[in-house]
Formats: sequence, structure tokens, C-alpha cells
Amino acid sequence: MTKKYQLFIDGKWVDSVSGKVFESLNPATGEVNAIVAEAGVEDVDLAVKAARKAFESGPWAEMAPGDRGRLLYKVAQALWEKADMLAEIETMDNGLPINETKFIAMPAMIDVLEFYAGLANKIEGKVLASPSNRLNYTLKEPVGVVGAIVPWNFPLMLTMWKLAPALAAGNTIVIKPAEQTPVSVLEMVKIFQEVGIPDGVINVVPGFGNVAGAALSSHPDVDKIAFTGSTTTGRLIMQAASKNIKPISLELGGKSPNIIFDDANIENAVKGSLFGIFFAQGQVCAAGSRLFVQESIYDKFMEAFVKKAQSIRVGNPLDQSTQMGPQVSLQQLERIQQYVTAGLEEGANLVIGGERNHKAGNGYFFTPTIFENVTNEMKIAREEIFGPVLSVIRFVDEEDALAKANDTLYGLASGLWTSDLKRAHRMARGLKAGTVYVNTFSMLDSAAPFGGTKQSGFGRELGVQALDMYTETKHVWVDLSDEGLNWYGI
Ligand code: ADP
Repeated sequence: MTKKYQLFIDGKWVDSVSGKVFESLNPATGEVNAIVAEAGVEDVDLAVKAARKAFESGPWAEMAPGDRGRLLYKVAQALWEKADMLAEIETMDNGLPINETKFIAMPAMIDVLEFYAGLANKIEGKVLASPSNRLNYTLKEPVGVVGAIVPWNFPLMLTMWKLAPALAAGNTIVIKPAEQTPVSVLEMVKIFQEVGIPDGVINVVPGFGNVAGAALSSHPDVDKIAFTGSTTTGRLIMQAASKNIKPISLELGGKSPNIIFDDANIENAVKGSLFGIFFAQGQVCAAGSRLFVQESIYDKFMEAFVKKAQSIRVGNPLDQSTQMGPQVSLQQLERIQQYVTAGLEEGANLVIGGERNHKAGNGYFFTPTIFENVTNEMKIAREEIFGPVLSVIRFVDEEDALAKANDTLYGLASGLWTSDLKRAHRMARGLKAGTVYVNTFSMLDSAAPFGGTKQSGFGRELGVQALDMYTETKHVWVDLSDEGLNWYGI
């Protein structure tokens, strides 16, 4: 029987005010995975009101930071117990191979919660240097009601990147999952509720971006928006947030360069670069989608790389042996196909793939795709495809590689493969991106800040730094003098 889900507002499961629902599809089959209540403007407003109430009064507002951390840690333990179940639900929701949800996305997601649970009672202000007749100090206070708008590629992990630091700092939150993948987030908040997160602290309003997402980002009583998604939508969120000067953090698209120097360990570079582009069907904002290969090793590298790419097993994402599942939706599949057409029209050479994979099933399966003879001017090298499509570009030397790598509107991630320590650090400084991978790609660590420069957005998630986005610094000036403030002398 098809599962049904309601909205989660103020600790209760409720239908939407309009009574509307929408279908969430399983991308591996194209069949309905769940029927979900569709939040509209009024539902978002109710969720924000509940979050406001929980922020201003009640058990959450009064809870000591250490208790908050302990509670979050208990949730993390409960999540470990249910991790396999959540992995399966997420795979059914968005088509990620079960090995990737089970062994990458779930552990990474829970690790983030543990990381911030531990930081809850380490968020500190400072006593400032002040003369003896006064005391200046700062308080780090929660910002209030956070709105989190998340995409479909890693629904749980990217929700947790916002939820965990927001809650650790004492905020409350309204989460708008992507319309393609609402189920895993709703299942996860059940676990938060079971462990005892007070009502109204977490609210979830599944629905469409242009309605529920727009309502959240323009809501006057939301104090901050944390967004991960496309650069186009990021622009809309920025506009909406400007209405009440709402602070925002945007983690947007990318067209990340991955550079193979001729002194690299070729075998490692081949394997790591495959993961860099084909992990999660290429639906990764940091994906190494522009591969730069030094001319002197070009043929050798490409021969090994293409051979391995051809052997990637595309199929049912619930099958343990599957290495690439379906794209998340028909719309995404068609978008990818349009980019393949554009690549061919602009004269790139299609080495492998480029077509829908019907053999893998009725879902939205595509084939690992590699284009050679690409130039940085082509659409397939400039625009984010968000699919398993790689553009390979040759380079001559370090200077050439750096110039080509940085010639992009984006600045999320970058990678390079070399055995030369000096070159590695030189390149790390030269690459204009929020993350530089040396001899690896697409790795994440809860302690390591992640985010972009240029049109990949601003703000850093993860790490201690992310707490700055969920706290305000308040300065307190205490006059300890006997004479007081008597400027006018009257
Ligand atoms: P994609 O185009 O790949 O679906 P988006 O950036 O549009 O990526 O989606 C990321 C998230 O942003 C989703 O939760 C989506 O519903 C939401 N969203 C889309 N449009 C808007 C909008 N105008 N305002 C706020 N959120 C939006």
C-alpha cells in the first residue's frame, strides 16, 4: 500500500489547510512512492508560528546548553539504530544506490549531528579588553527561527547540515524538503520526536518551491534562511529574503575542476576521478565535472579512465551491487539529454554514454557519459549539468591548468592529483573555490567547513564555523564607574 505522510507542525502530524496532497515518485520505477500533504502559504505560516512559540517560551527556550547537546546526542544514537531503514527510505525517495546511502550518506549525516551535539555547550561569548571601570562582553545568542530549504540529492544529510547547528545553538527550525524527496526527512523527524525534542522546535512543510519555499524565504518572522540548491533558485531566495533583510546562507551549484598532472599516481587518479563525477549519479554540487588532463599523459590516463567508466554497473539502487542508480526525475533526465545534444552540437566528442539506459529498468536511468575535445567555452563546460556527464579538457602545464580551472562562474570545489608537494600547495592557493581536494575528491568531514565562492554561494556549513550562521553576537556594555555618563554636565 502506498504510504501517506502529513505535515509536521508543532509536534503534530496534520493535513495541509487546503487538504492538497502530492505524489512522490520512486525514480527507479517511476511509480508512486508516497502521497504527501502539500504545504501552502498558510501551512508555512502555522509552522513559523509554532517555531516562534517554541523559540520564545517553553522547554526548548529554557533548556541548558548541555541538556540540549545531550538530547541531540540521544537522537544521534537513535538514528544509528534506524540507519539502515533510513538508508532504504532515502534510496526509494531519490534513487541513490543503497551502498551510497548506507555507507556514505547516513553515517556522514549522523556524524554531523554528533559533532554539533558536542558543541552545544561550547558556544561562548568573550569578555573583551575593558578598562577597570567597565565591563564589555559578548553573548552568542541563537538567531531565532531558521528556515531550511533543502534539495533532493542528499535530503537527510543536507537537512542535517542545517538542523544540527541550528538546534545546537538553541534555534528552532522550519524545514522545506524538496518536492521530489520529502519522505526520508519526515521519517527522520519522527525519530527526533520519539527521543523527546519539544513540540514546535522542528517543523516540516513538504511542498513545492515556488509556493512553500517562496513563502518560507519571504516570511517576515523567519530570522534566517539556509539554502542548498541551484544558483537560479538561490537568486530568487536572495530576492525574497531582501524584503525583510533576512540573513541567508546559500550553497549553490558548481562546475568543479579536477586536474590530473603527469606526476600523479595514475591508478589512484583514475579511481578517485570516477568517484568525483559518477558518485550519486553525478547529482553532487561539488562533482568534478570538468576533468583537466595534462597532455603528456592524456592517452594513457583516458584509456584507463574510460575503460573503468564503462564497467560501472547501472541498475536497481536497492541492489547491493549497483554502482549507479537512476537520476532523480524525468525532468532531470531530460535536462541531461539536452546537455548531451548541446555538447554534440558544439563539436565535443562523445566517447561513451550519452543516452538513457533502458536496460537498467523503467526508471530514469542514464549511462555514464564522457565528452572529449571539450573547451571551456562550451555549454557542457560552463553550466552545471547535475548528472553523470564529464567534460574532459587538455592542458599543457600548471599555469594553463590553473587559468582554465578558474575560468568559471562557480567556485565550490576543485581537485588536483600530483606527487609534487610544492605544486599541490601552490595549486591549493591558486584555485578559486571553497574546497581543494589533493589526491582525492568529493570527501566530507563534519569538522571541515564546506561552501562556495563566486556564484556557488556564500556561507560555510559544517565545522565550528557554521555556528556563526546560527548565532548572533550581542555586545553588553556595563558601566562600573561611580560618576556614570554625564556628558552634558547638567
Ligand atoms: P532543482 O532545480 O534541482 O530542483 P532547486 O534549487 O530548484 O533545485 O531546489 C532546491 C530546493 O529549493 C527545493 O526544496 C525546492 O523546492 C526549493 N525551491 C525551488 N524554487 C524555490 C523558490 N522560488 N523559493 C524557495 N525555494 C524554492
